[in-house]
Amino acid sequence: MTEPCPYCDGDMSVPGHLLECKAFRDAVEASEARLPWERFDGETFSAARDGARLYAQLQRVWLVMRDAGWHTLRELAGKTGDPEGSVSARLRDLRKQKFGAHDIERRYVERGLWEYRLSR
Ligand SMILES: [Zn+2]
Repeated sequence: MTEPCPYCDGDMSVPGHLLECKAFRDAVEASEARLPWERFDGETFSAARDGARLYAQLQRVWLVMRDAGWHTLRELAGKTGDPEGSVSARLRDLRKQKFGAHDIERRYVERGLWEYRLSR
């Protein structure tokens, strides 16, 4: 099953598409797709290099989440190309005041599987 990429003619269901998608990268650079935070600090980010890498991760997760639909960690990992553990950590980041204090809802699907939704 394919899922059209909102940024190019590509297929979002291809694992890691957002990592390869030039149109997505351009959108991230554009102001409308920019997160309202300039940089990370604190416990998660110790080095500038890590900060840039994790900031890019956060942008990818946020860009998939901002459709306000329900997403599993596996689906988010597939779309962003980031490991599920990293996606989970970035979802926690999005809840933090310094990263926008977003509301991330969580609901149980089955057999230990959860879905997440960005409601604000
Ligand atoms: Zn694309």
